[in-house]
Amino acid sequence: MSAFLAGLRQIFHRPWLLAAFAALASAILLLTGSVGVALQQMKESETAQMNAQGERFLERLEQVFGQLREGVDQLQALPLRGCDPAMQEALQQVSMNSRFIYEAAFVGGSVACSSRGGERALEPLRPPDIRGPTYSYWLNTTTEPDENLAALMLGRGQFLVSTSRGHLTDVVDLPPGGSLLVVLDHGTRAIPVLGPAQPWPPAANWPPPSAKDLLELSDRLIYRMPTKSPDYQLVLIAPRASLPLKMNGLLWLLFPGSVLVAICIGWLVLQLILQRRSMSSELQNALKRGELQVLYQPIFELDSRICVGAEALVRWRRPDGTLTSPDLFIPLAENTGQIRQITDFVLQRVLEQLGHLLRANRQLYISVNLAACDVMVPRIGPVAARLLAYHRVPASQIAFEVTERGLIDVVVARDNLQALRAVGHQVLIDDFGTGYCSLAYLQTLPVDCLKIDKAFIDALGHDAASSGVAPHIIRMAHDLHLRVIAEGIECEDQAELLNSEGVNYGQGWLFAHPLSARQFVELITRGRRVRSRRIDDEP
Ligand code: C2E
Ligand code: CA
Ligand code: CA
Repeated sequence: MSAFLAGLRQIFHRPWLLAAFAALASAILLLTGSVGVALQQMKESETAQMNAQGERFLERLEQVFGQLREGVDQLQALPLRGCDPAMQEALQQVSMNSRFIYEAAFVGGSVACSSRGGERALEPLRPPDIRGPTYSYWLNTTTEPDENLAALMLGRGQFLVSTSRGHLTDVVDLPPGGSLLVVLDHGTRAIPVLGPAQPWPPAANWPPPSAKDLLELSDRLIYRMPTKSPDYQLVLIAPRASLPLKMNGLLWLLFPGSVLVAICIGWLVLQLILQRRSMSSELQNALKRGELQVLYQPIFELDSRICVGAEALVRWRRPDGTLTSPDLFIPLAENTGQIRQITDFVLQRVLEQLGHLLRANRQLYISVNLAACDVMVPRIGPVAARLLAYHRVPASQIAFEVTERGLIDVVVARDNLQALRAVGHQVLIDDFGTGYCSLAYLQTLPVDCLKIDKAFIDALGHDAASSGVAPHIIRMAHDLHLRVIAEGIECEDQAELLNSEGVNYGQGWLFAHPLSARQFVELITRGRRVRSRRIDDEP
């Protein structure tokens, strides 16, 4: 097991191997996915095709039967009951007037005559397939593949009319070997109307469970269609011989496409890893060369506008003067583990730059952001204790901000946060409302203060659905006796609204951007108060 894990670790440390692995995995996924989609599409088009054919055939069947009934009714209404010239003429008249009537006949005892003269007279060789109160139906009177031979026959009294096979085949394009069957007697008997006879029932698991269903066998597709009449159903049977060929054609297109996309994915993964690697080694150098800086965004009491503390925010100023946002490098550092070094650096820098200010102003505090991994191990407490002792600053003047993301394992986090509080640090939940931290969670967490995320402050006073979230969080915090800090206050209206809702503290561009240590010291020593004027941004 450990050898397997070691092997895996090896792969993940080699960008080339990882990229190849990503390419292979995506190629397999793409190919199986696209073959699956192609198969599904093929199935759907087969069903649609069979459905369309069935519907066309049903429609024609109704038309044909309609005309046959009309013809035989006309003959039945005539007072003729013998094979004389008048009967001959009447039979020919009916056959000529109806497009679908191929032959009309009279069979009376030993005499029989037909619209086709002496050529042939219809004579059913078997009892009717459907015997109704008025009409009798013969569904397939011949299996010979002659388009002109009768395929359907209808009888009333002593009269018979039939249609030719061609009138049915011209609407249905059956594949070679396919059959169209009319199923009678509650599914027990099937008569082929087109195509060769088929064994019945056509499959072991017949009938299919739903009313309209496609049954796929290895060699045939069997499609059952419901009809308007409960007396019969229509079943189409088509051989599947042509399917693998179609699939091969499709695969020839899918295969190179998937390989190409997989190569692109592999290349992208490689670039991403190399970029992350170079960024993480750049960050390492930045830490060594002292390119990271800490700025302080003042936090004010909203009522008096007196500055009570500041949040330490890290910045990466590159040698060329450009600033990289912490939003870019903090998540990377969290992944690589470099965040621990950054947290230690921020703590150390806070005390180096502001130790004297904190010693001179015992009510002032600095809030330091912690990452998830800082909360998961009891490391930061001892680090802070050592630095605080060195700078002679009490723990109460350093607060720690933890985001809800950092509380994945609540039990472990709770113990570590409790340890920090036990020595005097304050603990704040940052970006409250954006994660999964519920009220139930909150009640069990050892925290002093909630920071409401800027998104909810932005929504205040607007009609947005989230505009009601901030007041809700505030009420909840008060119920739990927690202090509230509003983050990202940009205008006076927000500050006043929050103050009226009972929020005591806030930070944001309305009061001050993040300041350099010198600017922050100046702000505190000058009197800590701002009113209707923003303190200047960093130089
Ligand atoms: P955060 O902890 O929620 O910090 C607040 C962010 O909102 C800061 O962005 C701040 O400059 C910005 N902000 C404050 N007031 C306003 C305002 O009125 N309007 C607007 N538009 N923005 C405002 P910043 O400094 O870019 O930091 C971004 C995030 O990076 C921080 O969000 C925090 O999650 C992380 N971060 C920054 N410094 C550190 C650090 O030292 N350690 C750790 N673990 N994370 C840090
Ligand atoms: Ca924060
Ligand atoms: Ca925040």
